[in-house]
Amino acid sequence: MNLLVVGSLAFDQIETPFGKTGKILGGAATYIAMAAAYEGAEPGIVSAIGGDFPDVYTDALQKRNIDLEGVQILSGEKTFFWSGRYHNDMNTRDTLETRLNALEKFNPVLPESYRNARYVMLGNLDPEIQCQALAQVKNPELVILDTMNYWMDHTRDALLEVLKRVDVLAVNDEEARQLSGEYALVKAARKIRELGPGFVLIKRGEYGALLFRKDEVFFAPALPLESVFDPTGAGDAFAGGFAGYLAATDNTSFENMRRAVIHGSALASFTVERFGTEKIENLTREMIEARLREFLSLTHVDISLEKKL
Ligand code: AMP
Repeated sequence: MNLLVVGSLAFDQIETPFGKTGKILGGAATYIAMAAAYEGAEPGIVSAIGGDFPDVYTDALQKRNIDLEGVQILSGEKTFFWSGRYHNDMNTRDTLETRLNALEKFNPVLPESYRNARYVMLGNLDPEIQCQALAQVKNPELVILDTMNYWMDHTRDALLEVLKRVDVLAVNDEEARQLSGEYALVKAARKIRELGPGFVLIKRGEYGALLFRKDEVFFAPALPLESVFDPTGAGDAFAGGFAGYLAATDNTSFENMRRAVIHGSALASFTVERFGTEKIENLTREMIEARLREFLSLTHVDISLEKKL
């Protein structure tokens, strides 16, 4: 186990212009850990599920080398449930229902073997829970945190507290604007960095992602895809690919983080091509490598700055 993942394991029910699912496997920790495992990391999940979480779902995670020792099974409870409906543009969605269930009373307790994790990915959850989990990690090399507008509205103080201990904040553009009060993303990233994280990773869906640090910024495009079926979990798969690559290579240089952004983008691009986890459950090394090659050719250009333009 070299990557601690704290986050939801869930039943999701999704509606897009292409159709509607029944209850399917979802949750931020699911997407993060699956993406990270493809990158060669060894993720261990801290979460809580109810007695209704089927064995086929735990098997799907375990057979990918994802450790579930940190998952509490609360047999009298139900598993977290989320349902959402996407608008025609697929960039916006309405949450129809969130039932916290087992996550409502979640008190994260890290197994002894998780406490030495060098890499920590705190998925979108109540910042109090993120903070409690992080406090149990002895000496992490890199802490990445994902959050959303809900926590900015309702538990801002707790979020600001946990942010002081975070190295990379991963949010979408609207969330970066809300947290910082700045519209321009360069200014927003600067303000967020003043809150604690040295790096700000801004996810812009089909418009790619930006990674900010002190005076530098790296931009990665999203792959232009023929069809986007279901964006659920794309942000988590992106963060999981990013975190998983860093954990597997054990290198937190900015150069390596740039590579990690491309790996995250590749995993996210697969996720949106089918409903839920369907696509990300069925990837091969060859598919991922081919996609990484597409990313390289997407932006590769030779320009000689010696010659006159
Ligand atoms: P994303 O599309 O990357 O925002 O992530 C979607 C996943 O996040 C779904 O699989 C949901 O189960 C999960 N999710 C949605 N809302 C929450 C929440 N409030 N807390 C934890 N997980 C959530």
